[in-house]
Amino acid sequence: MECEEVRDQFADYLIDNLQEPARLEVRNHLAACESCRSEAEGLKTLWTKLGTIPAAEPGPELRARFQVMLEAYRHGLDQAPSRSFRQSMNEWLARWWPAQPVLQFGLALVLLVVGVAAGWRLRPEPVVQPNGEITELRGELRQMRQMVALSLMQQQSASERLKGVNWSYQLQQPDREVLTALLDTLMHDPNVNVRLAAVDALRQFGGQPVVRTGVVEALGRQDSPMVQVALIDLVVDLKEKESVDTLRKLTQDEKLNEAVRTRAQKGLQELE
Ligand SMILES: [Zn+2]
Repeated sequence: MECEEVRDQFADYLIDNLQEPARLEVRNHLAACESCRSEAEGLKTLWTKLGTIPAAEPGPELRARFQVMLEAYRHGLDQAPSRSFRQSMNEWLARWWPAQPVLQFGLALVLLVVGVAAGWRLRPEPVVQPNGEITELRGELRQMRQMVALSLMQQQSASERLKGVNWSYQLQQPDREVLTALLDTLMHDPNVNVRLAAVDALRQFGGQPVVRTGVVEALGRQDSPMVQVALIDLVVDLKEKESVDTLRKLTQDEKLNEAVRTRAQKGLQELE
């Protein structure tokens, strides 16, 4: 099987809906092909994570919105030049959707995200002019990304939470909910690496007042020297004058790590 042919079968393969010998062929290909394997892994992870999103029982509103989104997606496919991956994804959706309405809503979302993402990736120059539907679809996609980020940030494992923080990078204009989750992660996550990643993620949203306030507050409460240094650098880069008091307190804290105090001292000089 060629890669593209194999990828066409991913969705069926992942929910164990593939007959022999196709199933074996996909499995053999995955064993041999690094790039298909990682694509399948990504799809599987996303699918698992979406399954844990509390919205597993979507209200009628969400369901209706999804229908609209699905229609828009199909409509977009009809207008686009034929491409086997998208086409088969479309056929797959058409085949699956009415037949198995009880299957977890998350699967539909995941296929849509993956299908749309794959479509965009395969065709970076949009042939269809951006119109209302596409814009709306992008908005929905953004919401889904946010859901994924939020869901990952609540996971037990630190590496999953790290992924969630990294997902938030993909959001150009995150909702307040995502910013709050990032700030909450920065404030309370027990893992230093996750908190450091949150500092990096928040940096790009540093124009937002809620982020600036939250970052200053977090600076006063961190106990890890690495995170403290990262936060000092951040408030200095953001030229956040509100952090001056906190920085001064840090420089006066005799129990504080020496490197952190020095950094705070320097930061203070730059801001004053
Ligand atoms: Zn392959």
